[in-house]
Amino acid sequence: MRLKNYLLNTTTKFGNYKDIIGKNFSDFSFIVQQLFTTVPAHLKRTQEALFERLNAIQDLGISYLSPSRSGRSLSGGELQRLRLVAAVTGYLDGMLFCLDEPAAGLHSDDAIKLFSVLESIKKRGNTLVLMEHHPEIISRADWIIEMGEGAGKNGGKILFQGTLKDFLLQENSPTRNWLLRLNKSKESPRKIPDQSKNLEVKNFSKFGIQPISAKFPLGHFSVITGPSGSGKSTLLFEHLIPEFQKETYAPLGLKKINILSTGSFQGNKRSTIASAIQISSPLRELFASLPESKLRGYSAKKFATHTPGGRCETCKGEGILTSPDGFEESECPVCLGKRFRDEVLEIRFKSLSFADILDLSVEEAMYLFEAFPNFFQKLKTLADTGLGYLHLGQTTNQLSNGERARLRLSIALQKKTTEPSLYLFDEPARGLHEIDIQKLLELFFALCKQGHTLIAIEHSKDFIQNADYVLELKTNHSSQ
Ligand SMILES: [Zn+2]
Repeated sequence: MRLKNYLLNTTTKFGNYKDIIGKNFSDFSFIVQQLFTTVPAHLKRTQEALFERLNAIQDLGISYLSPSRSGRSLSGGELQRLRLVAAVTGYLDGMLFCLDEPAAGLHSDDAIKLFSVLESIKKRGNTLVLMEHHPEIISRADWIIEMGEGAGKNGGKILFQGTLKDFLLQENSPTRNWLLRLNKSKESPRKIPDQSKNLEVKNFSKFGIQPISAKFPLGHFSVITGPSGSGKSTLLFEHLIPEFQKETYAPLGLKKINILSTGSFQGNKRSTIASAIQISSPLRELFASLPESKLRGYSAKKFATHTPGGRCETCKGEGILTSPDGFEESECPVCLGKRFRDEVLEIRFKSLSFADILDLSVEEAMYLFEAFPNFFQKLKTLADTGLGYLHLGQTTNQLSNGERARLRLSIALQKKTTEPSLYLFDEPARGLHEIDIQKLLELFFALCKQGHTLIAIEHSKDFIQNADYVLELKTNHSSQ
């Protein structure tokens, strides 16, 4: 707490500022209402707004959090709903709310709670449009629009629009069939793995969560699920990872760890698909090794966009120009979006220039580089996660959250080793549609076959039904 001592010396019957903001939101609401029974007229509005937000936090089921809790210790689901608090409070009507996957990463119970909050916004006279994959939300919507058929170039078609009743009659709808399948199979009988070797957790507890004990089978795929605040992320980040670092699991033969969490992809404005999967630099070297390059004395640097040499200097190799306010982008008039100077584009590999190759989709590039294992393997892993339609030169900041998560997964999978490893995933299926989830699961099973141990935090029913071991955590907070 970075407050001067004299401020902390001011106390109320509930303690000082630090004590109060350290309480959970349930207790905090109570204290605030006790402390501010009368406020000066000019603060009335502020007080009302504060109470309103506190009520929204209660409705969204996250009142076990405390105001002082660090943002970094929150799970994805908690963050999503905290952000929503600001959007749902107030008396606005006649508004159009467009929400991008608000239920992503939510357990069914939490998704239903979220839906009731959305309902109350609707009842005030607002319109909500959600982009959403969560089965609990889809099956409660007033109007469903199904887009398809594939991703990227193959998408953009409206396959269906109408009410749930009509939607359920669409025998050819992939989403409808998926919903029906999820509802039919409750808890499918899981294979009981060999219990002799387990990664064991005994009575772990932190941040006030209920003590957790678990036995994750080695060489298998486990899922940790449960509502927000039940301690899933805490178990992963505050226990499994630190214990691995302390070599607790070394006697089990687990030598390496791969951690894959959601969140923004670490990349800058220039980070492209090609650079993310690390084929940029071999690609530049390949071009520099071509006879024509050697004749002209072009080094790999000539094909770089991050340094001057071969790139278009008008757009600094970005292919686009950004207006001074940063909001508008237009194609560079000099290189016409090609990013390079003409002389560089004269160098051809299998009749394609460097810019032509950056324009290829991952799948197209896979065929081009079939005989180059160095490129092929990286491209194939990406295509296997369902991202074959992305273009090599596409910047990573244009990707949706789901695409970004899979890109990260693909990068993690490329590091696959023969040594038995522990793979930890934080909501790998977040924002993914069923077809893509199936692709992911296949990758997961392949990893298990190679002897790796996988543990994922996930709420997707497809994942839970396919896991070898499921740990379902419950919330148990003193205030609820
Ligand atoms: Zn340019």
